[in-house]
Amino acid sequence: MSSFSKQHVMKIVIIGDAAVGKTSFVHRYVNGQFSQTYLPTMGVDFSVKVLRWSEKETVRLHIWDIAGQERFVSMTRVYYKGALGCVVMFDVTKLSSFLKCHHWKQDLDNKVMLPSGAPIPCILLANKCDLPERVVTADSIAEFSKNNGFFTWMETSVRDNRNVDEAMRRLVQEILSVQSSEDQTLSSLEDSVDLQSRKATKRKNCC
Ligand code: GDP
Ligand code: MG
Repeated sequence: MSSFSKQHVMKIVIIGDAAVGKTSFVHRYVNGQFSQTYLPTMGVDFSVKVLRWSEKETVRLHIWDIAGQERFVSMTRVYYKGALGCVVMFDVTKLSSFLKCHHWKQDLDNKVMLPSGAPIPCILLANKCDLPERVVTADSIAEFSKNNGFFTWMETSVRDNRNVDEAMRRLVQEILSVQSSEDQTLSSLEDSVDLQSRKATKRKNCC
């Protein structure tokens, strides 16, 4: 890496009900593979993927794949701590997994936020759209996504490798743009604090 390049490090958490395809998604994204064998995640899996983002920037993603079992349905703050982005996933053939997304998003927003207090960028993924027995319509997903603070939603098929890279790219893009506006807000806040304290010092000196 040249001395001019910058590496962004981002923790991303993937949440959603069990068996919606979270582990398959991460596996496909990181290793480019898909497997039909179903091995439920126990606890947390951790994967790393490095993206060459631009000429001078790389992005190192730390992806936390959180177990979807009922007993883990409320995640502790430790899992979310330091996350800069989130994927909430459901299975389009299972209505209950879609309805549960509300709970997942709330749990996330209650436990992690950006320094400004805003929620972290979150994308909603409607997985298994290759299957014919779909029960959740695009209209209801769009409405739910809008009403629950997702910056966007996408249909994915991990099996057919549809929208996997695209979804992650959109998430990274959103994280970077939110980060730069957060930096601006923070630096303008610092400027105004600095200005206030300089004014105060000046007044003190002059008296
Ligand atoms: P997790 O519990 O959310 O991590 O779900 P898994 O990744 O373990 O996947 C559960 C099951 O769904 C596995 O049998 C996968 O092969 C299957 N699966 C995952 N994604 C897709 C998909 O896009 N299409 C289809 N048809 N099956 C999928
Ligand atoms: Mg899993």
